[in-house]
Amino acid sequence: MRERLEELLKDARAEIEKSGVKDSLLTVKSKYLGRKGALQGFFKDLGSLAADERKRAGELINTVKNSLESEIETRLSAIHAAEMARRLKTEKLDVTLPGRSRPLGSIHPVTQTLYEVEEIFTSLGFGIAEGPEVEVDYYNFEALNIPRDHPARDMQDTFYINKEVLLRTHTSPVQIRVMEEQPPPLRIIAPGTVYRRDSDVTHTPMFHQVEGFMVDTNITFSNLKGVLTHFLHSLFGENIEVRFRPSFFPFTEPSAEVDIRCVICKGKSSACRVCKGSGWLEVLGSGMIHPEVFRSVKYDPEKVSGFAFGIGIERIAMLKYGIDDIRLFFENDVRFLAQY
Ligand SMILES: [Zn+2]
Repeated sequence: MRERLEELLKDARAEIEKSGVKDSLLTVKSKYLGRKGALQGFFKDLGSLAADERKRAGELINTVKNSLESEIETRLSAIHAAEMARRLKTEKLDVTLPGRSRPLGSIHPVTQTLYEVEEIFTSLGFGIAEGPEVEVDYYNFEALNIPRDHPARDMQDTFYINKEVLLRTHTSPVQIRVMEEQPPPLRIIAPGTVYRRDSDVTHTPMFHQVEGFMVDTNITFSNLKGVLTHFLHSLFGENIEVRFRPSFFPFTEPSAEVDIRCVICKGKSSACRVCKGSGWLEVLGSGMIHPEVFRSVKYDPEKVSGFAFGIGIERIAMLKYGIDDIRLFFENDVRFLAQY
């Protein structure tokens, strides 16, 4: 048995020596030391030996086993070390190289303007409400005093999903939804995206609006004037001139469009392209909430009154930042966006 063991040890050592990679070394390990390996055969043979011989032979097999185990371990560490040395040599890392910096993003000018508008109104005690962008005809038109045959429907190029369902053309439906659920007094703004079939330098099929309204027992047109003048002064500066001009909206009576002095020519150039020589820029629509609108939400128009307004955020951002094409907001050209 001793001779056979020595033979085995010799073979195993030769194979360990030849193993240059971890995998082949592990194969050698299982060939000699595994549960079905060569050494196990020797242990099995012990049973056929006499008692005193069995002890010596057992010790011998164990010695061979231990020495093979430790030689394999040593060889494994050597392979690891060689691999590490090779990687250190080929994969160089220069920790003194400066890092690669990525450009910082910025808040989109439309979002910035929206935040600013929200900030002004919340500081006046207005809360913020939201509503669905996919709306039903009733909330978008009918409850706002725009019945089916009303000519005002032609003013709004609506995206219809079917006869009853549409993409909201304004944020005014939120006004109805809030009043249906809450009694006055109310001070709410409703920011969000709205949709119309329209596209040119001042119109995009999707744009942002902020609807706002205030309802209580004694709200008058001077409250409307006060709040909106304060808003425009906060946004464009205390010195900007503000003008209220009679207008028509089905959901307000009386209605007023609100203009500011042209931010480009200050009203001094008849050739100004921005105000087209008028000296004024229309910035929002407003009015006293129509009694029919109050009736549709079961408010008593004899007891409560209120005003409402709608602000186009892209329009405000264009005037504030001097941008002459609304489509620039949605092309996502970083060179444009990075300026704001
Ligand atoms: Zn002008």
